[in-house]
Amino acid sequence: MESCQVCGFEPAERTCPRCGRRVCRHDWLGGHCAACEATLCRLCGERHALSTCAECGRPVCDACSSRAGLARVCRECQRRAWSALGAACSLREAPAPRRP
Ligand SMILES: [Zn+2]
Ligand SMILES: [Zn+2]
Ligand SMILES: [Zn+2]
Ligand SMILES: [Zn+2]
Repeated sequence: MESCQVCGFEPAERTCPRCGRRVCRHDWLGGHCAACEATLCRLCGERHALSTCAECGRPVCDACSSRAGLARVCRECQRRAWSALGAACSLREAPAPRRP
């Protein structure tokens, strides 16, 4: 019997479509294996995380995060930062009048 490639001792029952690992039922998370879960973006859960959020430390993909100076911040922390800074910023950032 083939053994799980994540835990190494339970019998493998599934093959992960993302990484091709053979995994046991405990390491199968209904779509991908536990090893893939660890590398997935915590926000969308679809794409591989490329970096971690500087604020919350969660792994996030490119689409769910953006650069804030030298760091990368996920969109949830970004939203929190925006609401904390709040109205003061939005007042200052009024659109400049445009001439035709
Ligand atoms: Zn296992
Ligand atoms: Zn996998
Ligand atoms: Zn994402
Ligand atoms: Zn974050």
